[in-house]
Amino acid sequence: MAEAQAPAATGCRVDLTGQTAIVTGASRGIGQAIAIRLAACGASVAGVARTLAGLESTLAAIQAIGGVAEGYAADVAVAADVERVVEAVEAKSGKIHILVNNAGITRDGLMLRMEEDAWREVLDTNLKGTFLFSKSVGACMMRGRYGRIVNISSVAGMVGNPGQANYSASKAGVIGFSRTIARELASRGITVNVVAPGFITTEMTGALPEKIKTEVKERIPVRRFGTPEDIADLVCYLAGPSASYLTGQVIAVDGGMTA
Ligand code: NAP
Repeated sequence: MAEAQAPAATGCRVDLTGQTAIVTGASRGIGQAIAIRLAACGASVAGVARTLAGLESTLAAIQAIGGVAEGYAADVAVAADVERVVEAVEAKSGKIHILVNNAGITRDGLMLRMEEDAWREVLDTNLKGTFLFSKSVGACMMRGRYGRIVNISSVAGMVGNPGQANYSASKAGVIGFSRTIARELASRGITVNVVAPGFITTEMTGALPEKIKTEVKERIPVRRFGTPEDIADLVCYLAGPSASYLTGQVIAVDGGMTA
């Protein structure tokens, strides 16, 4: 992958020039905003989603700001897919400096009515996918004695949320997993942190009924839903070289919802 230069006039304070980042779930929503932000700060971005067609708009947005990005079709829950992507990115870039495990799905329903498939699918994508990418990229980072892993959890992984037993378990799992690998990888210059978004306006939340959205807004002290850029800003900081003393932490970006 060609080396990207930090595009002028993006207002980026984090300099990621010369760094390579993998962002999963980069085709839309939060992952797309993260990919664009990292590229705007100078990173070469490898965006992952299940189809290349889905990644087109992200790649075009990055090209439009003078950044460098490439798309990779992969299912994060399939080990062979993950290995293929990581090998290809490493072969092109030499090193992988940043990994953002963002791909995630919901399949909501009350626990007593939840089918095993809904449990497995959500746990496989949200938690197993995070494990597979962290393991594979973690090995590259160990060799390079440097790395920044940012895992996207949710406030639903910090407090319970009726109707989301599978999702909540997967996101709480991401927190426990991240705290453990933060300890395992710290001595090699690799930090691992968790960003736990509250209610962010994306396709994932767009389908919720208006009544629910109104009720949720009333529980948010800042009285608005978050934007994907609210999450991308923090991820970008955590992905930067100056965040070297910050590891194993869970930061909620939720307008004060869990305060
Ligand atoms: P979204 O708009 O539904 O986007 C999900 C992304 O994940 C898409 O790029 C999708 O790509 C990708 N993806 C899903 N399954 C995948 C798989 N098996 N392999 C590879 N990629 C896969 O969701 P979002 O709202 O941006 O959420 C992003 C992350 O933030 C998720 O982990 C979510 O749980 C978390 N989060 C969101 C909110 C919120 O309010 N929106 C709140 C808390 C946490 P393709 O469909 O193109 O494959």
